[in-house]
Amino acid sequence: MVSLVGAGPGDPELLTLRALRLIQSADVLIYDRLVSQEIRDLSRPDAKLIYAGKAKSEHAMTQDAINQTLVDLARQNLNVVRLKGGDPFIFGRGGEEVETLARQNLEFQIVPGITAATGCAAYSGIPLTHREHAQSCVFLTGHLKNGEINLNWEDLTDPTQTIVIYMSLSGLDQICRKLIAIGRSPDTPAALIEQGTTPSHKVHLGTIENLESIVKNQGVRAPTLLIIGSVVNLHGTLNWFSPESST
Ligand code: SAH
Repeated sequence: MVSLVGAGPGDPELLTLRALRLIQSADVLIYDRLVSQEIRDLSRPDAKLIYAGKAKSEHAMTQDAINQTLVDLARQNLNVVRLKGGDPFIFGRGGEEVETLARQNLEFQIVPGITAATGCAAYSGIPLTHREHAQSCVFLTGHLKNGEINLNWEDLTDPTQTIVIYMSLSGLDQICRKLIAIGRSPDTPAALIEQGTTPSHKVHLGTIENLESIVKNQGVRAPTLLIIGSVVNLHGTLNWFSPESST
């Protein structure tokens, strides 16, 4: 049995009970870069841990190799946990991995996790929807391909929709410029959340006009999540999380 398990955004206490139980009983864990040491330490001392990568340009394993490893381990009748940061079905390639298992008629289950968007939003006091600010919210990837971000910019003109952008640090300048170019007010509030829910959690606040210059010299470290829209202003009132004193 292979369990595709969401490990949440960082804070180990955001694991689901099912995720915790499966991690504690796994024979083998295959984990991604964003899965913290603290979470890996929850595994059995005799469990085998396999690092699957991947930082932007350093792929510890190719996606094909990961898929094949899951198949091989499942055939050995081991309890296999494939651990992914956040939720496995949100920008996590979890779909591709279980497709391979499904094609080979191997047994699997999927355990959802708290995705970076909801984890970072909650720990930053930024509600993603709010009756007076945003009636909808959209999750996008700002991943650069050949220096370009491939998004339907024209769909992003609605000021009552919160925009959440994963993988947006390298493309931050381009994202903000494009939004202004399609007519969004340069004053639109924006927050870049650095290492959300972890002891290094930091919220960088600005507007789509000045956020890039605000974070430029801050030595911001990945992972970061970008939230855009007037809900960001609620951080001033709803901010509750101070990483140093979190217990
Ligand atoms: N499956 C994951 C997302 C994987 S893509 C999920 O559901 O959260 C990786 C991106 O997620 C990062 O580039 C970053 O944008 C975001 N991310 C993951 N963990 C984060 C964290 N603790 N703080 C801020 N952003 C995070």
